[in-house]
Amino acid sequence: KPDPHSVLKVEQVGRHFQGLIALEKVDFELKPGMILGLIGPNGAGKSTLINCISGVVPASSGRVLIDGVDVTSVPGYKVPFIGLGRTYQNIRLFRNLTVLENVAVAAYAVARRQDDPYALAMGYLQEVGLAELHAHLAGNLSYGAQRRLEIARALALQPRYLLLDEPAAGMNPVETDELMQLLNYIRHEYGLGLLVVEHDLKLIMRLCDQVVVLNKGQQIAMGTPAEIQADPHVIEAYIGR
Ligand code: ADP
Ligand code: MG
Repeated sequence: KPDPHSVLKVEQVGRHFQGLIALEKVDFELKPGMILGLIGPNGAGKSTLINCISGVVPASSGRVLIDGVDVTSVPGYKVPFIGLGRTYQNIRLFRNLTVLENVAVAAYAVARRQDDPYALAMGYLQEVGLAELHAHLAGNLSYGAQRRLEIARALALQPRYLLLDEPAAGMNPVETDELMQLLNYIRHEYGLGLLVVEHDLKLIMRLCDQVVVLNKGQQIAMGTPAEIQADPHVIEAYIGR
């Protein structure tokens, strides 16, 4: 399990695209075992923030620190090795590899010499409930199963923090419920800190310890689900669009 004193700090992170300010002065902390929700209307900057934290897109200002190490100065391809895993809003799997191979690739990347990446991968598939489908091509899975496979692949990199961009998108209510159970399991059993972007406010309110609200790149609120639901700025951002 990760060090309970570990912390991921997002410090005054900003990003602009030419004239467009996609993010400005976003600032919060994520700790092991915590689920932080990230909500906001379309175009609020949620995916851009996940891209900045995970090094896919460089931040224009501010810093992201994992236990004092500045993630923004680490090349993107090395980010998985400093404890950060992620999934994508648009699923990115190797569609023509099997379910098992998709996870084994990630397990292999961090394996020690004595480890068997396929055995490790099978363990992660069991965790997300996909072991029986291990020999199927990833591209043939249902949408909900593909999203769970992305989570298994991210877990195989043994991260301390996991960033999930709309993990429930396209899922039916049963799949969404199973996803919530899975995320709670990951939080407790692996002790990971989770950052979850989600449109479904009911899901966010049931799942998260803390919620950060973005609107047009600005962090307009942060607090417990109860605090967020009562916040006039949040109500205005959602109703006023
Ligand atoms: P969200 O995920 O909250 O819906 P995004 O982070 O995808 O929002 O987008 C935030 C804003 O930044 C939007 O106005 C979007 O058009 C813009 N944006 C995102 N990525 C790029 C990019 N690569 N180039 C130009 N503009 C971008
Ligand atoms: Mg998005």
